[in-house]
Amino acid sequence: MKRIKLKGRGVYQDYDGLKEDVFFESTTENGMTTNHIYYEIDGKGYGYTLEFANDLNEAEYQGRKVKLGKIMQGDVKKFKVYVKNKGIQTKNVGMNSFEYKLDEKVDETKLLDLVKKLNDDPNVHGILCQLPLPKHLNEDMIINTIKPDKDVDGFHISNVGLLNTGQKSMVPCTPLGCLMLLREFVGNLEGKKATVIGRSNIVGKPMSQLLIEESCTVTVVHSKTKEIEKVCSQADIIVAAVGIPELVKGDWVKKDAIVIDVGINKTDKGIVGDVAFDEVSKVAKALTPVPGGVGPMTIACLLKNTIECFKRSQKK
Ligand code: NAP
Repeated sequence: MKRIKLKGRGVYQDYDGLKEDVFFESTTENGMTTNHIYYEIDGKGYGYTLEFANDLNEAEYQGRKVKLGKIMQGDVKKFKVYVKNKGIQTKNVGMNSFEYKLDEKVDETKLLDLVKKLNDDPNVHGILCQLPLPKHLNEDMIINTIKPDKDVDGFHISNVGLLNTGQKSMVPCTPLGCLMLLREFVGNLEGKKATVIGRSNIVGKPMSQLLIEESCTVTVVHSKTKEIEKVCSQADIIVAAVGIPELVKGDWVKKDAIVIDVGINKTDKGIVGDVAFDEVSKVAKALTPVPGGVGPMTIACLLKNTIECFKRSQKK
């Protein structure tokens, strides 16, 4: 089995051709010669963060610095890796990124007042309210209080409606990042059979919508789906967003499928995805590693969306 790390755009625009070239180099594993070659899709390697950071600098030249207001509740130490990375990266690229840390028991009115204050501040271009919120808060109401034009996460009902009707909207960062990776690797997605595992509002549902817009034939599976492995094994593309370590096994995956692993799960052996990487790499044509695949794309898309919000504010 041979692993090819893809670090950089354009390298494998015609990956079928590339496969022919490297086929002869197939190596031996455990004494057995195998011809299977898979591509590891490295989210960091694409340099999107840097590309969007350049856009950010342009935005700054207009005399106003892009400002992102991030609202976090509870013990920040408990947040998952990608949440922490959002803070670090946005600052690294020079964004004016402010964290408003609120107590886990914060009163709903106080939180709504903060959202309204950020909505009304012309110097704040994007607002992000880190989910999940503590149980006593009405998550929908809080998200829908954020001005749609400042909604960098694309979770506001107006943005969800626009996305679902194929109109220009703020698109949730993680599915947008997954789509960018798929477009890089596959090119035209039209007619591909795609299975999205998970139906959350933040990943699964918007991901399925984006793939429908790309003219894929989309199936969404979830915890109540029967014979999930059979459904998955029909797919040309699998996007796994579940939150169960290594749920997707080798026999769930069709030979030469493209697998995007959104999961980030802390385990005794470190951070792993929702896909059993070792098994799946033996059958898939390409898959994203965890960490390093989708995570960096989420951050890059957060920059992209924040800059988009900034540009919208300049047009008013
Ligand atoms: P979520 O809200 O908990 O949703 C999980 C989904 O998985 C639900 O739709 C659930 O089905 C489904 N599910 C649960 N058990 C299943 C099973 N045995 N078989 C099939 N489907 C099952 O999670 P999320 O917010 O979408 O996040 C999913 C994963 O992605 C997590 O590991 C999270 O940490 C990670 N994540 C990563 C990034 C990133 O930047 N890389 C961003 C966001 C999330 P039901 O609807 O039936 O309950």
